[in-house]
Amino acid sequence: MNVLEVRGLGVDYQSATGAVHAVADVTLDLRRGEILGLAGESGSGKSTLANAVARLLRPPAAITSGSVLYRRRDGTEADVLALGPKQLRAFRWKELAVVFQSAMNSLNPVATIGAQIDDVLRIHAPDLSRKARAARAAELLQRVGINADRLRGYPHELSGGMRQRAAIAIALALNPEIIIMDEPTTALDVVVQRDILHEIGALREEYGFAVVFITHDLSLLMEISDRIAVMYAGRVVEVGTARALRTAPRHPYTEGLLRSFPRLRGPREELLGIPGTPPDLRSPPPGCAFHPRCRHAFDGCADERPALLPVPGGEVACRLNEGAGLGDGGAGVRDEGAGADDEGAGADTAAREAS
Ligand code: SF4
Repeated sequence: MNVLEVRGLGVDYQSATGAVHAVADVTLDLRRGEILGLAGESGSGKSTLANAVARLLRPPAAITSGSVLYRRRDGTEADVLALGPKQLRAFRWKELAVVFQSAMNSLNPVATIGAQIDDVLRIHAPDLSRKARAARAAELLQRVGINADRLRGYPHELSGGMRQRAAIAIALALNPEIIIMDEPTTALDVVVQRDILHEIGALREEYGFAVVFITHDLSLLMEISDRIAVMYAGRVVEVGTARALRTAPRHPYTEGLLRSFPRLRGPREELLGIPGTPPDLRSPPPGCAFHPRCRHAFDGCADERPALLPVPGGEVACRLNEGAGLGDGGAGVRDEGAGADDEGAGADTAAREAS
């Protein structure tokens, strides 16, 4: 069952030289309890999408179209974009919490970690006694691997990894159904990063919340996500299970992202990267916005924007996959048969079949 349903969402930033279409016509579901990875280069729209869902956008950003539906466990629903100030305060923390990349920026530098957890509990759970709040704060800190005596510490007294763990503890304070994590481990070294990712997986198992995990590192997402959505030029261009994207990426951009970062497991591959730079979102290229950078582009790619269409294991917006729908025997069905030993074969295979 979906806990969040985004439909046709658009976000523009107004600039002196025109509207920047940061998110365009995004439709995406978040299933209850899943980890959904959101991948893409800087400027692909992934953070703007997350901020729109959390109602954290500020001018000059503005939502121009679409809807966001939140569904509670008891079956009641909330139209997130229509929440008034009071409802929004209840929605944030209790139902949806956000962990940002730099905990140093999101934590209050002049308040102890304990005071910051207590603030959230005091405001959003007024029935809890002072003693119960103190016990909950200690429990939360210990749950993310920090000794409870750090409750009296200030953010600058903690390491980068501990600060990020403390930010996660605050996000967990009210048992939200959704936690959005925007590059939460990017600034950390690899060992600390892996520890925290492991911890997030364990916490998800224990508490059952859903996670939207944002990063440009698709290889890392493969490790922790149930499903992954890949964004390019403000649009979702591929979404599927982590396994489907790992074994047979169907969009050339997904394939390029996979070949831009070393894999955490499996055989080493030459890192090729993606040629060129992301487009100017004031006037993205016509047709498929990726066509100027796509090594599989062919006549027609610049004429018509490919729709996000179902394929085995997910959905993809690429003309190479047109006709690869569910069960029609097209390229998608054959790619589905490519096992783990055929990693990386998807887009190449599709390209050969199209030519
Ligand atoms: Fe490349 Fe064409 Fe597919 Fe776009 S539609 S990703 S240009 S092959």
